[in-house]
Amino acid sequence: MQLDLGDSVETVSVLLPIPADRPYSYTVPQDMQLSPGDYVQVPLGPRKVAAVVWDGNPDNVDAKKLRAVEKKFDCPAVPEDMRRFIERVADYTISQPGTVLRGLLRAPGALDPEPPLDGLRWTGDAPERLTAARKRLLDLLAQEPSMAWTRSGLAHAAGVTASVVDGLVKLDLFETVQIPHAPIVAPPQIAERSSPLISEQADAASRLVATVKETGFSTVLLDGVTGSGKTEVYFEAVNAALAQDKQVLILLPEIALTTAFLERFEARFDAPPAPWHSGMPPKQRERVWRQVATGQIRAVAGARSALFLPFQDPGIIVVDEEHDGAYKQEDRLFYSARDMAVMRASIGQFTCVLSSATPSIESRVNANMGRYKSVTMRQRHANAKLPNLETIDMRKDPPPRGQFVSPVLKDAIEAANTRGEQAMLFLNRRGYAPLTLCRVCGHRFECSNCSAWLVEHRFRQQLECHHCGHNEPVPEACPKCGTLDHLVACGPGIERLAEEIDEAFPEAGIVVLSSDMFGGVSRLRLELEAIAKGAADIVIGTQIIAKGHNFPLMTCVGVVDADIGLANGDPRAAERTFQLLSQVTGRAGRAGGKSVGYLQSYAPDHPVIDAIRSGDREAFYEREIALRREHGLPPFTRLVSLIVSANSRNEAADHARALRLTQPRSNDVSVLGPAEAPMALIRGRHRFRLLVRAPRSFDVQSYLCGWFKDAPKTRGSVRVQIDVDPQSFL
Ligand code: ADP
Ligand code: ZN
Repeated sequence: MQLDLGDSVETVSVLLPIPADRPYSYTVPQDMQLSPGDYVQVPLGPRKVAAVVWDGNPDNVDAKKLRAVEKKFDCPAVPEDMRRFIERVADYTISQPGTVLRGLLRAPGALDPEPPLDGLRWTGDAPERLTAARKRLLDLLAQEPSMAWTRSGLAHAAGVTASVVDGLVKLDLFETVQIPHAPIVAPPQIAERSSPLISEQADAASRLVATVKETGFSTVLLDGVTGSGKTEVYFEAVNAALAQDKQVLILLPEIALTTAFLERFEARFDAPPAPWHSGMPPKQRERVWRQVATGQIRAVAGARSALFLPFQDPGIIVVDEEHDGAYKQEDRLFYSARDMAVMRASIGQFTCVLSSATPSIESRVNANMGRYKSVTMRQRHANAKLPNLETIDMRKDPPPRGQFVSPVLKDAIEAANTRGEQAMLFLNRRGYAPLTLCRVCGHRFECSNCSAWLVEHRFRQQLECHHCGHNEPVPEACPKCGTLDHLVACGPGIERLAEEIDEAFPEAGIVVLSSDMFGGVSRLRLELEAIAKGAADIVIGTQIIAKGHNFPLMTCVGVVDADIGLANGDPRAAERTFQLLSQVTGRAGRAGGKSVGYLQSYAPDHPVIDAIRSGDREAFYEREIALRREHGLPPFTRLVSLIVSANSRNEAADHARALRLTQPRSNDVSVLGPAEAPMALIRGRHRFRLLVRAPRSFDVQSYLCGWFKDAPKTRGSVRVQIDVDPQSFL
């Protein structure tokens, strides 16, 4: 006899964290109740994977051919707005929803509740023999007799060894109980702030608070000069969201360096936010994930991936330093966390605050057009002055041959140090020199996997590729002509700069900061704290020193090469230079007093350099926005990059050409390329690019989906990446 499963078997669609374009169907075991959003475990080939029950009807396939859901996790379901968010991110970025779902399922260990801890509760009896240690222990227990302790927690609290506790356990003085895990952070306290906001801040805060209270979607651009109190102000909006019992997310570009931020939040709300970034230990990640899902955690400060945490009821997302390039992910899933934060808020109908001293052109235009509310602050707190800025014309005041710091800047450093103040030199180039060549034959050291020079790191005695990490020892002889000892370093890196400064200021305490430093993030944090307290006379660093640190004694900031980045064909080059240099020079003089920022430039009349020097940021924005409009660049048009890569140059070129040939006709869309990418080779992969441009109102996603349906399928090592709203054109 054959069992007829027939119609009586229930099926569900389940979205798996794999690059499939739609959910798969599974049968539901008789004793299982499933609704959309439930986390389940399903079989996939030989694997078992964690996945999410999705909305919509399962495919109309014979249930007999389907496999069954294996398990439903004991975890609060993915809320409806989060499911819609995952779909919308996939649509917008032209990727599969399963690929986006991966971002949510980053801590599969957290889907099961953490087993409770074994605990001890005192029975109230006392042992016959009472040693000093036992007495301490009993005194503690007597203070709170009904409290349950872990063995180690009790020993620690009483200041005795665990064996003292064990002794009493043997005497049956405890009953065993189960203790739930403590929350990873205490809930933040809603409270009035202790110091008053100054007038401009108070206005800004009340507008933000009103927006949060209005309920419904709104994006606010909080545009205020460095030190104007943006953080203080958006904390008021955070407070308002917490008061509505909502969860809060603050995105930060450089989460690993944000102890200072966590402390500030704690000072305001009596408890720090839960951190979220990829450098966290797995167990801690799982706890944060779980407690966000259960709602125990009310506030998270995290990197861009925190956007995919399972918030149950978010009330505000703040994107701090919204212009920062770190918000763009360019790996597997190409997305801008800033833009997706706005999308998340629109789906969930709450407030998104974008905060910056140098907003992106995109956000400024959105504010100008009324798509975002605009809140501006122009005064520095406590009347700390913005630094005076001066350009040093390197054609008129050049450094001696083979050096990079003009005598004018050296004098300023010396003067600051003489007054007992600090100076800082900024150069965004790691290593000793960006290029090494042979003086005899002109051979240039190039990476074999990438289109990039090898950068000399003299301290490590290596030549390194900054794109793929390839490194080799610095050779004694030129590999091409064999001449000994004729390699020369071209151009400055911060190691070389440090050498020059060390020679010029032999008495000064010099600190060099870059991501190459030994000891990683924790060491960097300590160094930054020490510098803020006055340790070091001269600080030399890469962009790592540009962000958010307060150095009250820093009164002289020198930008060694203000022209870097101005001439590289990237439509955002001017904007990026403006942002970076404003940020760097903004490090000076935060505690008041006079301070000067110096920009070394061979083109001091360049409009970007001039805008920064004159402090006329509005003129810069006006000009830059006009240029973007005139040249049909974002945000006045939409760009999408198609990056075709393969193990051989021919394969990549052929596929890129074939792809271009299938481009559907359209009067709205123009396509540039294929052209070999400026970085033609990365990690051994040859790259070609196409650039699609369309009007803002045009549905470029649907257009591309249609195109890709008819496009030649990728074969062999060929891969096509789609980057909507690209930030990088390399
Ligand atoms: P921004 O984020 O705009 O750079 P911050 O919020 O970091 O500015 O404020 C700069 C400094 O001034 C911080 O040290 C902050 O604590 C302080 N500050 C700003 N406004 C106030 C205020 N109203 N009361 C007390 N301190 C303030
Ligand atoms: Zn390389």
